[in-house]
Amino acid sequence: MFWKKNKTKKTKKTKKTKKTVSGTKNFGKRFLELFNTGKTIGNDFFDYLEDLLVEADFGASVAVELVGELKETCRKDPSVTDKKELTESFKLLIKKHLKKAELKPEPGKLTVFLVLGVNGVGKTTTIAKLAVKYKKEGINGIVFAAGDTFRAAAVDQLSVHAQRVGARIVKQESGSDPAAVIFDAIISAKSRKESLVLADTAGRMHNKTNLVKELSKINRIINEKLDSGDAYKKILVIDATTGQNGLRQAEIFNEAVGVDAVIMTKYDSTAKGGLVAAVSIKLGLPFAFLGKGEGMDDLVPFDPDEYLNDLFSGPD
Ligand code: GDP
Repeated sequence: MFWKKNKTKKTKKTKKTKKTVSGTKNFGKRFLELFNTGKTIGNDFFDYLEDLLVEADFGASVAVELVGELKETCRKDPSVTDKKELTESFKLLIKKHLKKAELKPEPGKLTVFLVLGVNGVGKTTTIAKLAVKYKKEGINGIVFAAGDTFRAAAVDQLSVHAQRVGARIVKQESGSDPAAVIFDAIISAKSRKESLVLADTAGRMHNKTNLVKELSKINRIINEKLDSGDAYKKILVIDATTGQNGLRQAEIFNEAVGVDAVIMTKYDSTAKGGLVAAVSIKLGLPFAFLGKGEGMDDLVPFDPDEYLNDLFSGPD
C-alpha cells in the first residue's frame, strides 16, 4: 500500500531506541522505571524519555516536542523533580493537545457519517458497533451504505452486520460507483425519514491521486444531497497497532477530504498508545472513540484523562 512506501526515515534516534529500550513493557511501566534508575532530572533522563516516547508510537518529532516542553516546565519551576509532580506535569502537557469529538446523530435531522480508513483497520466492525450503540440510545432508522464496492467481501460483511444489528443496507453490485451507492442511501433515508446513514468506503486505492479523487467525489455528492439542517461528519478509523503508518494515513485522509473525528481501533491489541497523542499533536484532530475489542460493545468514548491514566499506569 502506498503509505508503506512512505516510511519515516530511520533517524539515529530510532536506532538508538531499539538498542536502549527493549522488551514488551508498556510506556507507563517504563516511565515509572525511569525514576528508579537513579538518573537525576537532566539530559540523560530527558534523552531516555524521548526514546521511550518514540518506542511507544509517539513518533520522533512529537517525542522531541513534548520533551522540549517538559524541559521548559522544569526550567521554569526547578521544584518539579519528584516522580508524582513530574508525571502530573507531563500528563498536563500532553492533555492540552488532546481533543474529544462528540459523535451523535442529531434528533430530527438526517445525520451522515462517512467512514474512512485503510482496508483492515476495522471500518465495517466499527460501523456495526456504532449502530448498536445508537440503537441502545434509542435512535431508530439506521442505514448502512456499502460504499466499499471494490471488494465483494466488504459488501457481504456489511450485509451480515446490518442483519445482526437490525439496520437497513443500501448496496449495489461489486465494482459500481461508491458515490452512487451513498447517494442512493441518502435519498432513500430522506424519503423514509430515517435518522442516520453510516457510509462505508474503500480503503484500497492504489495511490494517493485515486484516493483523493474518489473521496472528493463522494464528499461532493454528500454535500450536494444534504440540506443545510442535516449533519455530516467524516470519521477516520485508524488501527492502534500500525504505529506511525496510522499517522501517515491520518495525514493523507485529512488532506483528501478533511477529517472531523478519529476512531482508533484495536486499542486492546497494543501496549503502546502514543499514536493517539501523535495524531492529536501533529494534526490537531479530535478523537471520538477507542475500539477495545471485537465485540459489539467494545467501543468506548474517548476520554483524555482516562487515556492518560492508561498510558501512564504501571502494570503491563
Ligand atoms: P475493514 O476492512 O476496515 O472494514 O476492517 P474490519 O471491520 O473487517 O476489521 C478487521 C479485523 O479487525 C476484524 O477481524 C475485526 O474483528 C478486527 N477489529 C476491529 N476492531 C477491533 C478492535 O477494536 N479490537 C480488536 N482486537 N479487533 C478489532
